[in-house]
Amino acid sequence: MTEQVPDQSAVAWPPVAADHPALDILNTVVQIDGKPVDSWASDADVLRWLRRMGWYGEDGASAGPARGLLKSARLLRETVRALVAGRKSGGSIDPRPLNDFLAKAPSHSELVCDEAGVRLERRRMTKTPEQLLAPVAESAAELLATGDFDLVRKCEDAACTMWFYDRTKSHRRRWCSMALCGNRHKVAAFRQRRQS
Ligand SMILES: [Zn+2]
Repeated sequence: MTEQVPDQSAVAWPPVAADHPALDILNTVVQIDGKPVDSWASDADVLRWLRRMGWYGEDGASAGPARGLLKSARLLRETVRALVAGRKSGGSIDPRPLNDFLAKAPSHSELVCDEAGVRLERRRMTKTPEQLLAPVAESAAELLATGDFDLVRKCEDAACTMWFYDRTKSHRRRWCSMALCGNRHKVAAFRQRRQS
């Protein structure tokens, strides 16, 4: 199977514009004409997304998608969505569903010494859906524990459900992306100004 070159543009499908990988998983569901559209429809879709995000390397690529990956990925996505929304609203959150996920994918550090030098690498299994999704679950846990939730925000478009981490200097990012909601609002504001 030839792998596509990852498309980094904001309008690639699904958009990868959250500036935090654990929020990009939430944005794999996009609202189109007021209806949620899931960009994942199969185990292979999820695997392709993991690879695009750099979470699934070429080693082990021949193993093919683990059965049940779509179901697990959707469960993880909605678990992370509930936790992010809960953390954002300042209420108490229940970490157990995410911890269950993390517990099913243990990994270990390995000290690697070769001609490139001495470094620490994380060794993971990639046989079960939970193992394949472990880096996403760990990234989400990290965000929930250490992220600045003043900067974790939902797109200001009321109908849009996308999240992002505002890494702009001014911390005044408002839209999931200019290509999606930003331009639409710019055009609407321009029309309104012209009419008044
Ligand atoms: Zn948006």
